[in-house]
Amino acid sequence: MTNRYHPPAGKGRFLFDLHVHGSGSADSRLSDREAMTRAREIGLRGLAFTDHDRLTVARSPYDDLVLVPGAELSTEWGDLLALGIRELPPPGLSVPGLIDDIHRQGGVAVVPHPFSEELRRICMNEHVFDIIGLVDGLEVTSPKRSVDNSKARKVAGGHGKAVTGGSDAHTAEAMGWGFTACAEGTVEGLLEAIRKGRTEAFMRI
Ligand SMILES: [Zn+2]
Repeated sequence: MTNRYHPPAGKGRFLFDLHVHGSGSADSRLSDREAMTRAREIGLRGLAFTDHDRLTVARSPYDDLVLVPGAELSTEWGDLLALGIRELPPPGLSVPGLIDDIHRQGGVAVVPHPFSEELRRICMNEHVFDIIGLVDGLEVTSPKRSVDNSKARKVAGGHGKAVTGGSDAHTAEAMGWGFTACAEGTVEGLLEAIRKGRTEAFMRI
């Protein structure tokens, strides 16, 4: 099966796609319902809808699929994933202020596709180092060709930050390209694992 993962989900390992664009993203061809169906087909425990500047808090209709509330925030320095938040941060905050607000809400802040010289509007590049002490993790599985995932992994490791995986999917086929593996299968357990740097991140083989 080409859609199965290595390493597979199993006892003590739950897989999450932490970067999915669903019905709340104008540029996505993927509906929330399709994304959830697809997530179960490919053996994920859960996913985060990370729509652009919009918080999606959906209830999973499936007992075996958890949804992580999330948003992909556009900032002056590039995109920032907010996972586990309850509301969108107020407008006008600096990037450090945004991260504070995410933490105040009990969420975690993750820099998606951190390094790409070509995609400077959405990728933070050198600004990652301005906030590396504040963020919880870096995404290391971007499917975007110009993104340097290995640099992201190196920087995360060098600063003791979590690595996360997500697909940045805008179509059903793209889902599960990258994923996060975690020993916990709940939203709270996943967020705590990210805070503690205890997640792993993989790309589909
Ligand atoms: Zn995205």
